[in-house]
Amino acid sequence: MEENKILFQLSKSTFLRGKQCLKSLFLNKFYKHLRDKISEEKKAIFKRGTDIGMLAQQLFPEGIDATPAKSFDYASAISVTQNALQKEDVVIYEATFVYNEVLMAADIFVRKNKSFFAYEVKSATKVSETYIWDAALQYYVLKGNGILLNDFFIITMNSSYIRNGNLEIEKLFTRTSVIKEVMALQEQIEQSVQQLKQVLSATEIPNVQIGAHCTSPYECDFMGYCWKDVPAGSVFELSNTNNTNMAEMYYSGIKRIAELPNNFECTAIQKVQIKAEKDQTDVINKDALRHFTDKLIYPLYFVDFETFMPAIPIYDNTHTFQHLPFQFSIHLIHNVGEEAMHFDFVAFPGADPRKEFIEELIKQIGTQGSVLVYNAQFERSVLNALSKNFPQYSAQINLIIERMLDLMEPFRKREFYFLEMRGSHSIKNVLPAVFKEMHYEQLAISNGNEASRVYENLRGETDIFKIEETIHNLKEYCQLDTLAMVKILEFLQKITE
Ligand code: SF4
Repeated sequence: MEENKILFQLSKSTFLRGKQCLKSLFLNKFYKHLRDKISEEKKAIFKRGTDIGMLAQQLFPEGIDATPAKSFDYASAISVTQNALQKEDVVIYEATFVYNEVLMAADIFVRKNKSFFAYEVKSATKVSETYIWDAALQYYVLKGNGILLNDFFIITMNSSYIRNGNLEIEKLFTRTSVIKEVMALQEQIEQSVQQLKQVLSATEIPNVQIGAHCTSPYECDFMGYCWKDVPAGSVFELSNTNNTNMAEMYYSGIKRIAELPNNFECTAIQKVQIKAEKDQTDVINKDALRHFTDKLIYPLYFVDFETFMPAIPIYDNTHTFQHLPFQFSIHLIHNVGEEAMHFDFVAFPGADPRKEFIEELIKQIGTQGSVLVYNAQFERSVLNALSKNFPQYSAQINLIIERMLDLMEPFRKREFYFLEMRGSHSIKNVLPAVFKEMHYEQLAISNGNEASRVYENLRGETDIFKIEETIHNLKEYCQLDTLAMVKILEFLQKITE
């Protein structure tokens, strides 16, 4: 019914959007259709936030849930909240309030012994500046409703909690009081609310240039629209730079790396990229590459792992967001010039994959020859965690680590730079530059985050056909990663002959 409609201009999420960029706030209100398509990865992050929020409610059991039964029925959420507040002592989940046309819902709101406490739950391990602004806005709305909080806590995941048996909710979460910071921001909150409301009542899109704020603190979902005219080879592609400086450069008229002045101060790595862009040619440092290929010892094992990182530790001896390896792919070349053989492993979903993973890996990876990985830091950290969790395999794991060579290094150090790498040494950028016909886009699973997500989603899946199809897709993806490494090395060897 019309009389039940709650009028508000800002919510917590639109306030934070506006704090990041006024243009984004305006576009989101009046030009929603220009928003980039929401990725499955982002949807999974939102779902994880909701799941963690629900779990944290167990810290304050038997609360009254003010979540509206129907989406956007804020009137009923406010009404449930007001009724609940009639009680002397009460816990309210999603306690909803509106003040000065700002709507907010506190994840957990507690009234106890005539005192008031609010809790904001985050599926992260650290309190960020954005979380404090979020809390400060809630404090502002509550104060406008005549409620002066005695304390405000941000609840985050406790990264030092190691699960052992049943999940211990109290230990899983950490509470950080931010009341001082929140109170100190109140004047700025008032000003920001006025400013953002003015933006929303304007008739024209705010004139905001692209820059560092487009990706920080969050990647803006209007980048497809705002960045569409940025040319290939733009200054934003220059590696290891700060987007604020590059935006200044861009708007001063220097749009492309090739247009940078000769006296532009840069690192040795950036110098290679600038030279490549100016000369429109790839850069090859054969001596440095030879130094890398000389270190190879046959047989060569090209190895790649996939992991998933549950926010809530699901297995004993794991912590929040721990990388749990569930899959590997190996391409093996016994001798120079021989064809590569392929092996792989995917743990059947539903159980802790770590022990089976390391036992299979040790079986397949032999004891001699170079172990080639792409971004050794990741594989090394996964193996070190396994070594801690399964000390009986430490000696073999250490041997694997000692044999490791990082195929990413020549690209990271720009000993070889292709224009198509566009400032990135990720294997996804290097592969199409070396082999135009090999692409990840043609696969059902095309990146590591997607692999983690689909594997984690298989937990509890009972449809065997779906499980088999997903495992097949995972294998295809991981196999391409190690095949890509084989092709990249072949290429490097050819040019250093
Ligand atoms: S892409 Fe950048 S400039 Fe455009 S709306 Fe988003 S943050 Fe603002």
